[in-house]
Amino acid sequence: MDEQLRRQYLEAMGITSWLFRQPDETEKLVPPPVEAWCQEKAPAAEEADSPRLDNVAGLDWAALRERVAACKACDLHRSRTQTVFGVGDQNADILIIGEAPGADEDRQGEPFVGRAGKLLNAMLKAIGLDREQVFIANILKCRPPGNRDPRPEEVLRCKPFLLRQVELVAPRVILAVGRIAAQNLLQSTDPVGRLRGRVHGFGESAIPLVVTYHPAYLLRSPEQKAKAWQDLQQVTKFLAGKESPKPTG
Ligand code: SF4
Repeated sequence: MDEQLRRQYLEAMGITSWLFRQPDETEKLVPPPVEAWCQEKAPAAEEADSPRLDNVAGLDWAALRERVAACKACDLHRSRTQTVFGVGDQNADILIIGEAPGADEDRQGEPFVGRAGKLLNAMLKAIGLDREQVFIANILKCRPPGNRDPRPEEVLRCKPFLLRQVELVAPRVILAVGRIAAQNLLQSTDPVGRLRGRVHGFGESAIPLVVTYHPAYLLRSPEQKAKAWQDLQQVTKFLAGKESPKPTG
């Protein structure tokens, strides 16, 4: 069948035929400059996906969420079911920061679900707050396999996302729950027992930060719940203006 007839049949069937475009004469005469090839070295895949501060700065919530969902900056993207961005009131007074998604969170795409999540909800209720009235996020947005501790390089890679969330929420107080969150946010190796009980300052603007135990730990060590209760009261006193707003450390 000759080519013209074949095209007519295809058009009659509503099928668009694709033809190779011939470069025009000017394109043939203007090759790309050699310097451009040398300078535009393709970045390595990891480098290209890295959430550096300069490529999340200024992102709004929707764009940030999209950036997180597509992130492959560390190896955790290989084993995740989905990213766990964070949830709650985007203008909350309290920003709760935990460690990393566990199995339930990885499955549901939401931080602090399952038994530990229920306990956190109960703790919030005890100070008169619903879960929807705070914003909840994690240091890492993807689950470490087998719930192992986050690795320093993973924390570093993921950090810009959290920092942008802190900027967007602009909370009056941050509640760091658990050792991993507290130590990473405060750049400390002290245990939770030594970090709790006072108000720290986070970041350049010294956002007040209170440390408490992780609900998963409280499920294993219920005798520590009284201390967690004291920590939450410190937060409420602070929000009510009864606590000295001057952070330490
Ligand atoms: S943990 Fe963070 S840095 Fe690593 S892939 Fe997930 S979103 Fe990206």
